[in-house]
Amino acid sequence: MATLAVLRLKRGHDRARVHPWIFKGDVAEATGAEPGDAVTVVDSGGRFVGRGLFNPRPGLCCRIVTWRDEPLDDTLWRARIAGAVARREGRTGATRLVWSEADELPGLVADRYGPVVVVQCLTLGMARRRAALVAALRAAVGDVTVFSADDAASAALEGFVGATGWIDRPGPASVVVDEGAARLLVRLGAGHKTGLYLDQTDNRLRVGALAAGRTVLDAFAYTAGFACQALSGGATRAVCIESSKEALAGAIDNLALNGVADRAEVRDDNAFDALRALERAGRQFGLVILDPPPFARTRTALPGALRGYKEINLRAARLLGPGGILATFSCSYHVSETVFEDTVRSAAGDAGVRLRLLGALGPSADHPALLTVPETRYLKGLLLQASAGAWPMVR
Ligand code: SAH
Repeated sequence: MATLAVLRLKRGHDRARVHPWIFKGDVAEATGAEPGDAVTVVDSGGRFVGRGLFNPRPGLCCRIVTWRDEPLDDTLWRARIAGAVARREGRTGATRLVWSEADELPGLVADRYGPVVVVQCLTLGMARRRAALVAALRAAVGDVTVFSADDAASAALEGFVGATGWIDRPGPASVVVDEGAARLLVRLGAGHKTGLYLDQTDNRLRVGALAAGRTVLDAFAYTAGFACQALSGGATRAVCIESSKEALAGAIDNLALNGVADRAEVRDDNAFDALRALERAGRQFGLVILDPPPFARTRTALPGALRGYKEINLRAARLLGPGGILATFSCSYHVSETVFEDTVRSAAGDAGVRLRLLGALGPSADHPALLTVPETRYLKGLLLQASAGAWPMVR
């Protein structure tokens, strides 16, 4: 029985009093625990630490859900989800309602797209509890239709079959969501993440507000969210670069949906090659967005990742016209804000471009971070402007 299951930590492995992650190397002994079970975590002296969900298969074998002596039951799921939803109150448009560790629901993501909520279970423990979690979500937001969009890589790591599809009753094949002046199409079950990169919503709006009269380069465009915002905000033209076929199709749909396709060019290309080619062709842009995938998924990948960030930022800096704005991002947790800034500084120096810092950028407000869980803080960006021309007001 779940209540009998105990995970005893090794002496000195007490990080779990603060951080929810327990790795196999932290564990002295697991008794009575089956994969996916709730376990009571105790320290080497048998003192209560917390209660979490267990899975012996991945290295990260337990995520603590509560540091109080309370059961992991429907009452707790309801309270946690209601709290997460309440923190987003007043936020309109597509919204992340639940964000895993950051909302003290490790392994669960829930995003609202209009009348649909997309749920992602990232751990076996959460996948097993899907029905209870969906009931708790509906208790908080009303009787929405719910789509499961589990991440295949996480499911494989955790040893469960990821679910993709409607949970108990079907909903629409696609949804159009408003994002400021723009509209974005979300096809359920297609694309990356749960459909959109919601962590970039606030940055898309901010960049869109600076775009009037500018020519735009949206590199690593996905479904052209930044370009749609910029063109809706009065940008004159946009070039979008993307290498995934599915994303390219989404970009074309979104540009048409916003009535701006005639001012946009969508290029199926490797952004590294495209940036170089644009530079060789002597092209200049008034606004460049660099939003690459995480180049460093592990610490060991860091040196190569930094070379990648430097390369694209160097090219982008050279593509800026006088007064041109660069919005550059890294979503690699292993690349700290300081290291990212150093990398962009070095790129700008090599490019011979003086860039003024208009502001530091972070994730949308619906992606809170927990100070004690630094892994929840992964997205960082810089808003920069090439020396010359007028400085726009920054909100
Ligand atoms: N800016 C987007 C999100 C970008 S996510 C938004 O706001 O919605 C990063 C994108 O880069 C993904 O769509 C991925 O397919 C694309 N990508 C990854 N490597 C690439 C490469 N070498 N060249 C072009 N696109 C790439």
